[in-house]
Amino acid sequence: MKVPVSLIVDDPAPIISVYYEHVARRTTSDGRPIIPTFPNDFLDQFCDIVEKHGIKGKFSVIPMPGNKGDIVNGLDGVSREDLDEWLDTVKARVLPHFTVGPEMLTHHKAVDLETGEALSMNERDWASTQDRTTLTPYISKALAILKDAGFSPIGVTSPWDFGIEVEDEYEAAISRAVYETSGSKEAWFFLRQLRNVPKARPWVALSEEGRTLVAIPGTLKDSTWQTISCPEVSDEYVSRVADEIITADGKEGEFVRTLSSGGYPIILSHWQSLMSNGLRTGLRVLDEIASRINKHYADKVEWMSFEEIMRFVIANPEEHPIPECRKA
Ligand SMILES: [Zn+2]
Repeated sequence: MKVPVSLIVDDPAPIISVYYEHVARRTTSDGRPIIPTFPNDFLDQFCDIVEKHGIKGKFSVIPMPGNKGDIVNGLDGVSREDLDEWLDTVKARVLPHFTVGPEMLTHHKAVDLETGEALSMNERDWASTQDRTTLTPYISKALAILKDAGFSPIGVTSPWDFGIEVEDEYEAAISRAVYETSGSKEAWFFLRQLRNVPKARPWVALSEEGRTLVAIPGTLKDSTWQTISCPEVSDEYVSRVADEIITADGKEGEFVRTLSSGGYPIILSHWQSLMSNGLRTGLRVLDEIASRINKHYADKVEWMSFEEIMRFVIANPEEHPIPECRKA
């Protein structure tokens, strides 16, 4: 049996950069303006790398990115043509490799479900004081928009650490919202990072009324985040950033440490860190990381989507104990 390896891609949306919308300061730390939009050829380039290496994982599609409309009825400042092209490419080229799910509604301001208007607080702060009675319809709305756009989501990603203060309520809400919108009794979610934890693996977070919810953590850091604020684009720089996950000889890095401790390497990344504020250095780092993993570990690991990991965990619960951070 091979060990699952997977890639988390947080924050994608058609054209709109949710990072630009929610970031406190719209300047990189080396003083360049943060770019507000990502052209569609960036998605094409991402898909080229995914297909080249057989990368699999989880890819968010944010239903109401940055409180600028929604992906079904249209987005402010985005042409219908560009929006449809983005969604069509995700369906044709991302879905064969990645589990697609919402990252709640906006990844920016929380939304009044009655009116669609933005509230004054962001979704993270809003969620921190909610319970299952308010979280369930909020999550259901996110899942329903993706369904209307032609996807079949059975899981969610937490924008920031949405729900972490009320995690039991959040878990119950996800499981119920997935069941009510899709009929699926199996669901997954991503909230926590288990970095530098021995044997870091997903676990069954909830099992009730015949429904099962699997928590899938990130276990490796987003090494490409640093490329947002770095103008350096040399091959040497790309190689150095990739080294943090796996070195060229395959002997060191977080991937190697996680695997040797008995954990599953689940690599975190973000749409904006792969874009590297327009330089796309992060995509080159991903290309290098995947190539090193496949070169040195093809006989030990297997790329898996989040739905494949979810099913594997449900079939083998004894190999996926609840981690210390979630024990009462
Ligand atoms: Zn995010």
